Parts: sequence; structure tokens; C-alpha cells
Amino acid sequence: MSARQGRAKGEGKPAYKRALLKLTGQAFASEAGGGIDLERVEELAAAIARVVERGVELAIVVGGGNLFKGAPAEGQGIDRVTGDYVGMLATCMNGLCLQAALEALGVEVRLQSAPEVVGVTEPVVLRRAREHLSKGRVVIFAGGTGNPFFTTDTGAALRAVQIGAEVLLKGTDVEGVYSGDPHREAGAQLLERVTYDQALSQGLRVMDLTAFSLAKESALPIVVFDVQSAAENIERVIMGEKMGTLVCAEEEGKGKRRRKKGEQ
Ligand code: UDP
Repeated sequence: MSARQGRAKGEGKPAYKRALLKLTGQAFASEAGGGIDLERVEELAAAIARVVERGVELAIVVGGGNLFKGAPAEGQGIDRVTGDYVGMLATCMNGLCLQAALEALGVEVRLQSAPEVVGVTEPVVLRRAREHLSKGRVVIFAGGTGNPFFTTDTGAALRAVQIGAEVLLKGTDVEGVYSGDPHREAGAQLLERVTYDQALSQGLRVMDLTAFSLAKESALPIVVFDVQSAAENIERVIMGEKMGTLVCAEEEGKGKRRRKKGEQ
């Protein structure tokens, strides 16, 4: 099936059989700032449960930026490697909360982490992860790639390729990929569809370069969408509703939306 069919909400079959959802750490936080807002986690879990009910095999990579990021901590008395491990453990905290919220809704979940937190998470075993997915269980991957100097975006691209996901759905705090920085430039345009090459040549920020190169090399389509303002967007995007930005190999000829930031 094509990456997006432009279906109306709630109609028909999901657009994907197996998908990887990346949830930035900020999706776990309240509007006011960092930390973990359990109400938001419940909203995310409810949206994920609805997707699983539709028969979608869903793996999730959780970020940790709401709690800790290694790179900014460097130079404040903590070395990069240690800071990055703290960041990876932060993703486990988000993952544990999401796991609990999903289980409370009766969804079967497995939390796999690299690095493993013994007694708390399973280790990342891809064969087992694929088995869980085919049995309808949600697999949450924490710890990103398991290595310092990487991000959970790279972890998301890596796990997506490793489990054979059809698409990487990157839930973020803006509507999609813009022609400029939507937080700073009022005229920045939301792009409906871009190719990997356009994103690279125009310096568009989709994901960090390592993550992006991996997706491009594996021809893994990426849909960047806003999960921050509405958790139910997860369901909408999986049902194939046109939203956010599709990054893929082929051009469709449309290029840019005329819409500007803030316009409906
Ligand atoms: N991290 C890491 N290796 C990885 C993934 C994450 O060292 O493969 C650390 C890194 O310090 C990062 C933090 O974990 O800043 C949280 O991840 P990320 O910044 O990607 O979270 P997000 O921005 O998605 O919330």
C-alpha cells in the first residue's frame, strides 16, 4: 500500500501492517515543561491501544529529552559518555510509564532496552521483538541504539529497519517538516512531501543525519507529524489520513503546501 491514501478519519483499513512510532520525550511532558505528565502518557496509551485494536503491529521508540539529554550536559561537570547513559536511562523511565499505561488498558507490551536494565526491561532481541509484534504485542524500544553519541531518532531508524517496519512515524512537536525553522520564521512553509535528496540538498531538518542516512539507504519512508497537540494524531496517521510531511524516495510533483505556520 502507498504510504498515504488521504482517507477520512476512522474509515477503512490501516495504511500500514507494521509501523515504528518514534515518540519524542517531550510528548511525555506537560505543556509547561519537562518531566513526565501521567495524563499525557494515558492519552498516548489510549491512542496506541486503538491502533493495536485495528490489527497494526506497532513498535515504539521512546525519546528521553523531557528528562535528560547528554550533549547539553557536557561541560557542566558531566562527561558526554556518562551524560548519554543518563539520557538512555531517561528513555527507560518514559518507556516504563508507557508500558504501565498500556497494560492498564489491557494491551500486551514488552519493553526492550539497550542497555538492558536488569530486572526491569528485556534486552533487545530482534527475533523476539518480531515474534511479539506478530502476536499483536506492542514492543517499546528504550535506550535508542544503546550507544553514547547517538540519538533516539537514530535508534528509531535502526529499529524500524531491523524489524521490517513499512514506515517510521516520527511524532514531534511541530506539524511536520518546514522550509525553515517554524519556531523562528513566521513565513516557514509546511511541506507535504519531500524526497530524501530534497531534504538533504535544502538542509531541511527531518531527523539527525545519521538517522536520516539510514532511512534513505533503506528506502524507509518517514512521516513527520504533530503528536504534541493531539495524541489521537497517531491513529489518524496510521489510518492513512494526510497529515504532516512524508519523506520518501519519489517525488509526487506537488512540492510545497501554500499553507503557512498557524494557518488552517
Ligand atoms: N542517547 C544516547 N544514545 C542513543 C539514544 C539516546 O546516548 O542511541 C541519549 C542522549 O544523551 C540523548 C538522550 O539519550 O540526548 C535522550 O534521547 P533523545 O535526545 O534522542 O530524546 P528525544 O529528543 O527524542 O526526546
